[in-house]
Amino acid sequence: MITKQLNKSFTASHTLMLAVFVSAMLLGRPARSQADVVLSSRWFHPKDDRDTLSTIKIAKAFNVTRIDWMYCNNKTQLQQLQQLNIPYSLAINPQTPDSAGYTTAKTRILDINGNPLVAPWMKKWKVKNPYWGCVNNPLFKETFYTQTKNIVDLGAYGVFVDDARFNDHAAEWGGCYCDYCMTAFNKYLESKNESLSGASNYREFLKTSGANAGSPLVAQLKKEFRQFQSQSVVNFLTTWKADLSAYAKRPFKFLTNNYNGNWDSPIYKVFDGGIAEIPSNKELTTGKIGGIVKKATAFGKTQVFSYASDNMTANAKFIIQAYLAGSAAIIPWDALVSSNVENNYSQRYYANTDQYLKLFDFISGHPGLFKNTISTKEAAALNLASSSEYITELRRDKTGTYLFICAPDSIRQAGDISSPVTFKNISGAPLSMFDDITPCRIMKSDNGNWNVNTAFAILKIKPR
Ligand SMILES: [Zn+2]
Repeated sequence: MITKQLNKSFTASHTLMLAVFVSAMLLGRPARSQADVVLSSRWFHPKDDRDTLSTIKIAKAFNVTRIDWMYCNNKTQLQQLQQLNIPYSLAINPQTPDSAGYTTAKTRILDINGNPLVAPWMKKWKVKNPYWGCVNNPLFKETFYTQTKNIVDLGAYGVFVDDARFNDHAAEWGGCYCDYCMTAFNKYLESKNESLSGASNYREFLKTSGANAGSPLVAQLKKEFRQFQSQSVVNFLTTWKADLSAYAKRPFKFLTNNYNGNWDSPIYKVFDGGIAEIPSNKELTTGKIGGIVKKATAFGKTQVFSYASDNMTANAKFIIQAYLAGSAAIIPWDALVSSNVENNYSQRYYANTDQYLKLFDFISGHPGLFKNTISTKEAAALNLASSSEYITELRRDKTGTYLFICAPDSIRQAGDISSPVTFKNISGAPLSMFDDITPCRIMKSDNGNWNVNTAFAILKIKPR
């Protein structure tokens, strides 16, 4: 967090540099670089003749280094990615259909009355197969193994388990009470020398315990049941990971979506890496994102981010912050917009590519910039005071020293994030390197379109 006061020792020649904006630094397409540029085309586009979207077109335009979290089992489509040398992980979720093509009840998580459960947020989704598989059900295990072996066979570098909590999550909405879970829970209790007061299983116990619903025994068993279901998922995934790794006979990655960057769950810890879904109403600073990355790294996990917003400037800001934190944010194309998920399953955000292209070109072309921070001593030499009001970072690579400025709110109403801008002080006078740019709310464009607190900029402030 560094910003604001520019050193009076800067020479007049730097004044020009201040006005140099991202666009000026983006001439030409960078070659494939080391910076991760991740596309999460959730499905391969075009899906059919009417689909005007193209996964390949986007992958090429953004020069992506890999594709994660994609549902696809079409060899011809995947071959197109192989030809472009783009690694991909393929997704599976708890609703993966069984061999008959449906999420039939016999392999699924059941409620206490034996009916298959639907996740609360999926109730309005228009999907024909909404039911989650039960990890204690050997028939579902068979389905899951078959499907994920197929993912290995399709040449994926890894598998992405979408909603990896399975029974652990379903326990929050009333599952799973299938016969397999009941038998396994009996064994779990036996191992702890506990019993169900004469009931043959937990389902029967709950149904007959009516009047005692608030009793300490019921409360204790409910807690144990949650622990049992959580442990069931960990056991299932751990065994599966070992089995699938053996099947792959090559390095193979196991990825999942860890909502909000959560690594506390033992279920997530089974995986090698995560895509953290961040809701759009969550204002994350570079420091907070960095904290998540640091935690993931400490656990030996990789971590990238997915920001659920269709707001262009909010996305741009988030993306830059994620990269500054040493991570990556997926290109906001084919991204689920969480605020609309309850009402419309198909509400996804496909960014206007031109708007983001310059930003990702910059990222792609400056991998070193995002890997190294400037030391406190070096920053002090530039005499930039620190501030928590704005997200500002100073970074340097072989092409120069850059100042990143992102105001807390969105920058502009719409439009090109990299259009030239002149930084002016609060009274409208153009800034020179000798001026105090505290606070950064000084930013206004020549044509007045930039408002107070609406700024985002990557400024090259010094040639290397
Ligand atoms: Zn079950």
